[in-house]
Amino acid sequence: MHHFHYRNGRLYAEDVAIDDIVQAVGSPVYIYSTATLTRHFQVFADSLKEFGGLVCFAVKSNGNTAVIRTLARLGAGADVVSGGELMVARAAGVPAERIIFSGVGKTRAEMELALDEGIHQINVESVPELDLLNEVALARGVKAPVALRVNPDVGAGGHAKITTGKKENKFGIDWTAAPAAYRHACSLPGLDVKGVAVHIGSQIADLQPFEDAFLRVRDLVLMLRADGISLSRIDLGGGLGVPYEDGNDIPPPPEYAAIVRSTLGDLGCSISAEPGRLIAGNAGLLVSEVMFIKEGSTRTFAIVDAAMNDLVRPAMYEAFHGIIPVAEPVPGEATIDYDVVGPVCETGDTFAKQRPLPPLKAGDLIAFKTAGAYGATMSSQYNARPLVPEVLVDGNRFAVVRRRPTFEEMRALEQVPEWLA
Ligand SMILES: *Cc1c(COP(=O)(O)O)cnc(C)c1O
Repeated sequence: MHHFHYRNGRLYAEDVAIDDIVQAVGSPVYIYSTATLTRHFQVFADSLKEFGGLVCFAVKSNGNTAVIRTLARLGAGADVVSGGELMVARAAGVPAERIIFSGVGKTRAEMELALDEGIHQINVESVPELDLLNEVALARGVKAPVALRVNPDVGAGGHAKITTGKKENKFGIDWTAAPAAYRHACSLPGLDVKGVAVHIGSQIADLQPFEDAFLRVRDLVLMLRADGISLSRIDLGGGLGVPYEDGNDIPPPPEYAAIVRSTLGDLGCSISAEPGRLIAGNAGLLVSEVMFIKEGSTRTFAIVDAAMNDLVRPAMYEAFHGIIPVAEPVPGEATIDYDVVGPVCETGDTFAKQRPLPPLKAGDLIAFKTAGAYGATMSSQYNARPLVPEVLVDGNRFAVVRRRPTFEEMRALEQVPEWLA
């Protein structure tokens, strides 16, 4: 469900024509839809409402301030994985008491920031991290609200690089070692042990791994309870996928909620979640202009002005992104198989191979679908290419919510040493 549709032959984001945005802002450009963000957040939040927890948007999936503010106004919290993301969430208007800090390697400075801000919860992923957080909290005279992230040893996720819940992954405390870690945590005076967290992976298209993981969480909560350690919070992490391809069947949030209810619903804990991709993925397009059509000896290349540095998912995860022309194709028109590639000097700078598309020519605009999550946030300036601007559409209005930097700005942090001057 999204709000990018053709109208009179032109692709629109809500009530704004994409080519009008490109006219104003240039290409390439990321375009996000407020109505889509809103709908995805609300469907998910409504599904989990009965569990009384937070829905914390995973800022790493889309770190744009205006996007986060849009969600914050709907009641979203934020799941952050660095001090930088914590600052972004606060600047976007997320109240500290709706922020969860995740991640395997928080620095002392990041712990201090989290405690000073007074955030809802810090998810701790190892025993040494428990010890450091305890020390930092004691030095500040506060108690840190913590959950332990456990690793349930469940395989899930759309690609090996985004599977996080197997025991060979770096994440979480092995679930078999968790009871001892909890006993240790409860002995530390600087910690207030609130709950348990899991996050088993990303782009998960099937409910079974969630059920397996949640059942292990259930066992752990009951085992700890029998041991005199009673937890009041469960954090499910994120991970529910989005359809990147037509026909990709992803279970809808109410079905996910049913699994939560059957596995954890009777424990009397508040249950929070940290969705990222699910909220932002289909709410964004990356729009790019065709620069050249190049006839190779065996392939036809569409060379476009976006590249792997702007949207790295195809290069990094062999990910599929739907590609549609901004001018609506003539129905029934024969397609041509294109390799859609960017200008970066790497073979990996390939968005799609042998993709059937309507005939393209230089100057045509195309849109990469489902680019709202792990798109702009993962972009870099590789090849000294400026970061792509981001635009937020709301009904019939749009605004640039991050502009394209100038070359001076891109170079502003660099300095030639005196001996080279
Ligand atoms: C990445 C991440 C998320 C969000 O994952 P999605 O697949 O985008 O929903 C949530 N929680 C943690 C701890 C993460 O690392």
